[in-house]
Amino acid sequence: MNSDKSDQSALFNRTLDITQDLYNKMSTAEAEGGWNDHFGLFSIFAELGRTLVEADRCSFWKWDKINHKLITNAAVGTDQIIIDENTGLVGRAIREKKPIVTNDPYNCPDFNSSVDKSTGYTTKSILVIPCFNCKGEMIGAYQAINKLDDKGFDLEHDVRRLSLAAVVCGITLEADTFLDDSQTDKLTKLRNRMGLHSDYKSKYLKLMQRSDDDKVTVSVIMCDIDHFKRVNDTYGHNAGDAVLEHVAKNLRESVRESDTVYRWGGEEFIIFLAKADLDQSAFVAERIRKRIEASVCTFEGTDIKITMSFGCAEMDPSVPVEDNIKVADTRLYIAKETGRNQVIKETIEGYEKVDS
Ligand code: GH3
Ligand code: MG
Ligand code: MG
Repeated sequence: MNSDKSDQSALFNRTLDITQDLYNKMSTAEAEGGWNDHFGLFSIFAELGRTLVEADRCSFWKWDKINHKLITNAAVGTDQIIIDENTGLVGRAIREKKPIVTNDPYNCPDFNSSVDKSTGYTTKSILVIPCFNCKGEMIGAYQAINKLDDKGFDLEHDVRRLSLAAVVCGITLEADTFLDDSQTDKLTKLRNRMGLHSDYKSKYLKLMQRSDDDKVTVSVIMCDIDHFKRVNDTYGHNAGDAVLEHVAKNLRESVRESDTVYRWGGEEFIIFLAKADLDQSAFVAERIRKRIEASVCTFEGTDIKITMSFGCAEMDPSVPVEDNIKVADTRLYIAKETGRNQVIKETIEGYEKVDS
């Protein structure tokens, strides 16, 4: 009895250590630039779950319903893993909407042993419980691996314990999903205007404001499909949508990991390029221009060809992002006015755009 009590008190203390760590991190998060991807939060929740059920590892799996994937936002002891939504025990827990325990995973048909094979880890017991949002929609699952006492997980006892972490994580995941949705364009899956402002503040401005030796030059490309109205008029709105998706894919594939493509609105796109000055951004824009010009978008058997115009500018961190974009926008306007299907990197007098 006494040892039971001291076990419980030790567990309670470890749990409070984790929540205090979380509290401290939250109270200083703003000064440190905030948590944009919630990764830090999810690692703490994983640690909380691991502690509560006395497991070797714990991970949260976010259900990406758009791309039909399950993604670990944090997995203690492993890298991020992405799997198809219907696979594995996590997929089964989500499909069946109920917790699952297996203490003999290698004989369980839903267990995917490929991670163990590649890492040399031996999975002996697994507990998965689905996570719900406040509307009762499933948004992910929580997985604990290898009960430390080697007796395996107990469905009733361990689900009860893990529910604490699952509830907190469920609410956080929901907020994370809302944030992602609000910053993503539904058609092209590119980040939208809100995403651009958020990234500028949390990433690109910071890169430009680093101390002298570390300072990074950031440039902006603004581009727009030429005569896009004609595409809609000739082939219909759905074909127009397909062209927008085609352009988004080509833009995304043309830039580096450190760059980001945004749908600014309608048929206008913006690219932020890290480590690129004005000339380098114009070089990238020209490469994209040629790629778009050479590409074909096939919609319901019809080949559609388009071109795009580009305006480039090197960003100045001392002025608002809108002003930097305005410089690129003016150059894009010049590209349109002087013939389209070209890249402009200088402001030419007499071509000041009048805001309508
Ligand atoms: P310019 O070369 O001067 O840019 O000419 P444009 O025809 O591309 O420009 P304009 O601004 O006259 O027309 C843009 C068109 O883009 C009009 C609008 O209906 C269409 N558009 C905006 N958003 C969408 C969308 O999400 N889907 C489709 N299919 N069309 C869109
Ligand atoms: Mg256009
Ligand atoms: Mg336009």
